[in-house]
Amino acid sequence: MRQKLVIGNWKMHGSLAANAALLDGIKAASARATLAVCAPFPYLAQCQTLLSGSQVAWGAQDVSAEARGAFTGEVAASMLAEFGVSYALVGHSERRTYHGETNATVAAKALRALEFGIVPVVCVGETLAEREARQTEAVVGRQLQAVLDALSIEQLGRIVLAYEPVWAIGTGKTASSAQAQAVHAVLRAQVAGKDAGVASRMAILYGGSVKPDNAAELFSMSDIDGGLIGGASLKADDFLAIGNA
Ligand code: PEP
Repeated sequence: MRQKLVIGNWKMHGSLAANAALLDGIKAASARATLAVCAPFPYLAQCQTLLSGSQVAWGAQDVSAEARGAFTGEVAASMLAEFGVSYALVGHSERRTYHGETNATVAAKALRALEFGIVPVVCVGETLAEREARQTEAVVGRQLQAVLDALSIEQLGRIVLAYEPVWAIGTGKTASSAQAQAVHAVLRAQVAGKDAGVASRMAILYGGSVKPDNAAELFSMSDIDGGLIGGASLKADDFLAIGNA
């Protein structure tokens, strides 16, 4: 049985006080899935302090592809590792759209995270225009292929994949469970083209307006192993309800 994983993406939200209340609420309860929260960089030390010894892991929302050096504003994987970070999102659509991240950059970031024992959560997804042009499989296929080409089979066995249709992120529009399952199955088959064993073990998360009332239906699909949760991860009750779905 594959790992069930629910990861919160706080995006650029939070404050020391709000985070403390949120993390207390999340820690206090148990969930059926493994839970993690991806916090803004300045709050990773707070996550380490408040979550160490709990069942909840923490992660970053990005990582530099560079190891170190004159890269103002970048944060190195080695630095994240010092703060006990387990996961790093790479290739979130907001990074691809607003920061021009290419498929090659995303693959390089995934490699760098792995080098420091951090699990990259590789995000792929199509825009609405691409879906309407029936390009979904081609787009997510190219995004995934860049990572498949860059990683060894052993490295591939240590990543998490997240399918996040861009049109469903933060919009309240969720892919139907059938739409999401269809893409997840295609992604898993593509990984299987490189290694069937890795594909069968890989957690593939769905993200895009997942809420307590639609999570169970999405997570009931055979190739959906959990969720990457934006807005609903900022409320402890909602995040836990999704983690229990
Ligand atoms: C996300 O930011 O990855 C996301 C899925 O956001 P939301 O759940 O708010 O759509």
